[in-house]
Amino acid sequence: MHEFSIVSEMIEKISKIKQEQKWIQVTRVQLKMGVLSGVERQAIENCFEILTKEWSGGSPVLDIIIEPVEFHCSNCCKESLLETTNFICSDCGATVGSTHGGRNLYFSEMEGL
Ligand SMILES: [Zn+2]
Repeated sequence: MHEFSIVSEMIEKISKIKQEQKWIQVTRVQLKMGVLSGVERQAIENCFEILTKEWSGGSPVLDIIIEPVEFHCSNCCKESLLETTNFICSDCGATVGSTHGGRNLYFSEMEGL
């Protein structure tokens, strides 16, 4: 599963930071997820839960921040920031245009004790 390898990789980085910081427990992890990153939020949450449930103190809280995608409307040339893959111009309602960004997927912050 695609999401599983993404989360495993992320958890490796988190564990490394946890060690460096000499934390006993990771309490919160923030993940930035672009609208077009191509992963399923639910799958990410499930994998995260499975891979961290044995940790001391249990699974950290996983905060997922959705990063919007820029949509450039071909009809009126306006730019909209969208948080779904339902591409529609917020100004004129046209659905034809190009997108930019929104493909990132990375953990951005973490907290521990
Ligand atoms: Zn438009």
